[in-house]
Parts: sequence; structure tokens; C-alpha cells
Amino acid sequence: MSTDSSESGTRLGIVGAGTMGSGIALAALYAHLPVVMVDVSDAVLDRGLSYLRHHLERKGQLEALGDLRAASTLDAMSTCDMVIEAVPEDLELKRRVFGDLQAKCRADCVMATNTSTLSVTAIGAALDEPRRAVGMHFFNPAAVMPLVEIIRAGQTSDSTIDRTVDLARRLGKSPVVVADSPGFIVNRIARPFYGEALKLLGEGAADAQTLDWILEHGAGFRMGPFRLMDLIGIDVNLAAMASMYEQTFGEPRYRPHPIQQQKVLQGSLGRKTGSGFYEYREGLQAEAPPFPEASRAVGPIFLSKGSWTPGLEDLLQAVGAMTGSAQTAQAGWVAAGRQEASIEVLREMDRDLPATIPLFCQAADVTMHEASQWVGHPDRLVGVDGLFLASGQVAVLTKGPHTTPEASHKAEELMRALGKLPLWVDDPPGMVSPRIVAMLVNEAAFALGESVAPEATLDEAMELGANYPHGPITWGRALGFHRILTVLEHLQREFGEDRYRPAPWLRRQVRTHGSQAKGG
Ligand code: NAD
Repeated sequence: MSTDSSESGTRLGIVGAGTMGSGIALAALYAHLPVVMVDVSDAVLDRGLSYLRHHLERKGQLEALGDLRAASTLDAMSTCDMVIEAVPEDLELKRRVFGDLQAKCRADCVMATNTSTLSVTAIGAALDEPRRAVGMHFFNPAAVMPLVEIIRAGQTSDSTIDRTVDLARRLGKSPVVVADSPGFIVNRIARPFYGEALKLLGEGAADAQTLDWILEHGAGFRMGPFRLMDLIGIDVNLAAMASMYEQTFGEPRYRPHPIQQQKVLQGSLGRKTGSGFYEYREGLQAEAPPFPEASRAVGPIFLSKGSWTPGLEDLLQAVGAMTGSAQTAQAGWVAAGRQEASIEVLREMDRDLPATIPLFCQAADVTMHEASQWVGHPDRLVGVDGLFLASGQVAVLTKGPHTTPEASHKAEELMRALGKLPLWVDDPPGMVSPRIVAMLVNEAAFALGESVAPEATLDEAMELGANYPHGPITWGRALGFHRILTVLEHLQREFGEDRYRPAPWLRRQVRTHGSQAKGG
């Protein structure tokens, strides 16, 4: 380890050598920056050093350890150009560290905090010159994840932002500049992914594993919300949710769920304790379900016009299930949404089709409990998430109160013949993927309306920071903002909760572009 000041430009100070501090140090050493790393705990410093040695060695860059100085007091920071604090998430502690750094560091040293949820403005206010305070939010593991959110606090100067963006680029990261608001971009927009999934679980819509499969194999998320909460730590996730709820003075979209609290109280925190939403005892792994092969044994389907099941016609044609007449059809399928007078479409289908064949109804904006009231044969009614059917590997199905086992069985057979794994949910408003994706799009729309960051930045941040299959605004546009609005209005009507109120930005998109354009 070196003790010399370096000639190679930015000397980076890192306060806290824990998970994030040592990850940021590794990113800096990979980029050949000189690093000073401070921690109050010698044991943590030792652990951090082993971590760095291990990874540098694997990359054949062990000599980079010569650019590192490890120390136990902030005196070592006096030569740094920029310092990033990564001490525990505690406002008073972070303010104290910033105050102490001010006494040790040069007057032009930029001071960044890696806080995930706290106000950067509140931390920066501990400085006499808060213009040099900024947020630099890395994602775990910091040496691997490409995104860094750069948070402009109330008094951050432009030159501080420029220097921080430059540092992030030198670390090989993709920086996005974001306003200082609760959760910044990623932790904010991701909230409904967990919150809405927990609410679905609490409503008994399905178990955690089924909900995970739907979101992974239906909507294309790399990890379902329950698997991900187990990985992050249910306590950490709950703390982030509670912090968002407090900072927004009780915004209902961020209300923590009692199920999460219960898990924390019983010490089931996820992987780190061996149990959470899943058990992690040896040999106990959640098996991926077997996906059926599409067969060409599908009879004709009587299909209504409607745009709430994109790709359905191609899917049916691919298995040779040409759309048949009312007399010859093996099943009926209402592809229309509520806005497209689907009640009348559904009634007509029900009247025209033989009573023995199943009738599918897209269910993103109507529950089967509601639709059952509109038809003469509610026993053959089966709801299906049409929005995510063709693009995913699963068929998410729901029964109404009168649906018979025969109709359910026929529905499963048909979905298997289409090459989709049937997964049942218990008639939740908005189904699963439409509900969660609509809430993610709505959260992004609120963030846009509050000038947190521009559209492209929000999308980029969610793809890079959360590994989402699409940025929320692009996703909303592809699904149709008018459909997102309809799903939200359906949720708000069913639950009577402000949590589902559509963002003004979303309404404006639909008013301006209507349902003809895809919302953009
Ligand atoms: P951690 O507990 O692993 O590390 C914090 C370290 O700070 C500990 O080693 C502790 O000894 C040290 N420390 C405490 N007080 C100190 C002081 N006064 N001076 C020097 N060192 C001190 O925590 P972490 O997970 O690395 O999180 C650090 C920060 O990064 C938090 O603000 C957290 O919210 C944020 N963050 C964490 C993650 C994550 O996934 N872990 C992701 C993004 C941001």
C-alpha cells in the first residue's frame, strides 16, 4: 500500500470500508485511481483489504493495491480531491462525518454521500459550503453495477456536479443526474414492484412463488419481487419503504406492508437468515416450472375484435387455431378492454357461443366477479391476462365465482396447447403483471411530473440500476398509456384507495395523444 500523494489526477477518499465502501474502492482501483479508505473498525478494514486483493488478483491487477492507502482516521483524507462517504444509513452519523471531513479536507474537496434514501440536502447542510456536497449513489455490487445516480442537492454547484459526473465516468460508470427527492430514481420507481406484490400476496391472489413466476416468465423481470426481497434482505427493503413513507408524510403508494413487518419481527430476513419468503436450507431450491411445448391441436377460436391481447392472433395462427365461427369454435375469446364496450362484446359472445365451451375474457381492467354479472353462462367464464400473454411463457388465469372445474380444465388445456404454462390467481383487480407494471409506469409518471429527471434518464436508470426489461416510460408507451390509465382507474375503483390515483402526467399523455397513438 502506498502512502504517497499521486500524480495521476483525482485522489479518491472513501469513508466506510463495508459492503459499499470496499466495492467503490475496487471500482476506483480497477480504473487506476489512487484511493484512501478509512473505517473505524480494523476488522472491517482487514475484510475490505482481503476483498480487494481477491478481486484484483482475479483480474490480474494485483499491483493496483499499491494505489490504496487504508487508515483508521480521517486525517488521511487531507490530500483527497473527492471523498465518498459510505457509513451506515443514519442521518446524524452522516452529518457528523461530513462535519469532521470539512475540518480535515482541502477547501475544494467535493464531498459525496452514497446514501440510498436520506436527503442529500440535509447531509450537505452540515458543511459551511454545501455547494460542494453531492449524492453519489452506487448500486451493489458497486464494482459491477454500471449505474451511479448523481444527486443534485438544494445547494450543489454546477462545478460539483461536473466533477462528480467526471469521476463516475472515470470509474467506467453511467452517471444519471437526479434531483434530491425521496428514493431518487431507482429506489423510488421500484417501490411498487415490492409494495404491490406484497399487497397481492396479502389479498391471497396467489402464493409468493406463483407471483414470482408470473413476473419472471410473464413480464420478463430477471428476478421476482419475493426472490429479490430475500436477496436484498427483507429488513433492508422494509427500512427503505418506511423511509419513503415518512419522507413523503404518508404517501399511500409507499405504505409498508404488515407481511414484511411480520417477517422482520420473526427474524425471517431472507437469504442471510436462511429463510424469508423462501427457505434456503441445503437442497431446498425453488424449481422452475416445466414449460409446455406448443402443439398444433388447437381447435378454432371465436375471437372478438379488441386490442387488449396484443399478439394473440399471431399466437393462435402459429398453432393453427384459425379463428372460427360461433358454431364451430372450441372456445370464445373477448380481447376487448373496458373502454372498447367490452361488456356488450362479452354479452354477444356469451349469447352466440354454445354454452359448453369456455369463454375467455381479458382481465386487466375487469374482475371475473364483475364480468360474471353480465353474462347468462358465468360457469364457463375464465379470465386471462391478455396484455402479457403473447410475449411471455405463462398464461395467467382467473376464475369467477361460478366457473366450473370443466371450464378451468379446458382453459388449462388450451393454454398448454398454445405453449403457455397456466398459472391461476384469485381474481385480483388488475391481475398481476398489468397491475405491477401499471404502478411502475405511474410512479415514473409522478417522478416526471415532479421534475426528478427527464424521461430518457428515468428509463436508463431503471434498466441499468434495477435490470428491468424495459424502462418504465418506454414500457408504458408500448403497452399504451391509455391502457395503463384504464388499469389504474379500475384499481382505484375496486379498492377505493388514493394509492392507485393516476399521475397527472399520465392523464395528460392520454388526453393529448388519445388511444390512437400509442400514448407518446
Ligand atoms: P456497511 O455496514 O457494510 O458499511 C458501513 C461501514 O461504515 C462499516 O464498516 C462501519 O464500520 C463504517 N463506519 C461507521 N461509522 C464510521 C465512521 N464514523 N467513520 C468511518 N467508518 C465508519 O454498510 P453498506 O451496506 O456499505 O452501506 C453504506 C451506505 O451505502 C449506506 O448509506 C447505505 O444506505 C448505502 N447503500 C447501500 C447499498 C447496499 O446494497 N448495501 C446500496 C447502495 C447504497
